[in-house]
Amino acid sequence: MNTLINIGGDPNDPHYRYKRQRIELERVSKCGGMFRIRNIAQIIRQLKTNEQFKETLYKKFQKQLGIVIDKNGFFKGNVSIEKLEEILEEQIRKFLLCPRCSLPEWNGRNCRACGYVPLIESETKESKNKPKVSRAVCYEQARAVDAVKVLYSFFPRTKEIEADINNFWSIPENNAELHDKWRLYIENKYSIEP
Ligand SMILES: [Zn+2]
Repeated sequence: MNTLINIGGDPNDPHYRYKRQRIELERVSKCGGMFRIRNIAQIIRQLKTNEQFKETLYKKFQKQLGIVIDKNGFFKGNVSIEKLEEILEEQIRKFLLCPRCSLPEWNGRNCRACGYVPLIESETKESKNKPKVSRAVCYEQARAVDAVKVLYSFFPRTKEIEADINNFWSIPENNAELHDKWRLYIENKYSIEP
């Protein structure tokens, strides 16, 4: 049986919501040393991504492993599943995980989980002149983001949860006290162990 792998998140978390199959290879011809990635269509579906992701992934396989792979996943050569998995994970991190919450809800423009939208260039320049955020604030923010991740991974997406999370994203970046308050409120309300 194919054990499922967590997409992003803690790899050892058995209750994580986002999972995918591990790559499976099938030997197509004994003499020619021809293989096929048997379950690529399934993995693409589980990643909720598209053909374009697959094409980019195959290009990476070709470039990094020196194989020629056709669009149906047939290739010739001695390649380990570990190597293929390593490259697949790299591509998942690059294209499918949100830069802020690390959940696989990133569509390249914004995150469907936490609502993150990258700053446009002018905003980035502006933010360079902003006063630096203190360590205490970063710490409270990180703990609050953890609470958001728990809400997204373990709870169904109700309107109430969406509202709680939207409240979180409206907290000003430099307000450690509010981040702390929000986190305590969420931990109590949903009985989350800190
Ligand atoms: Zn996100």
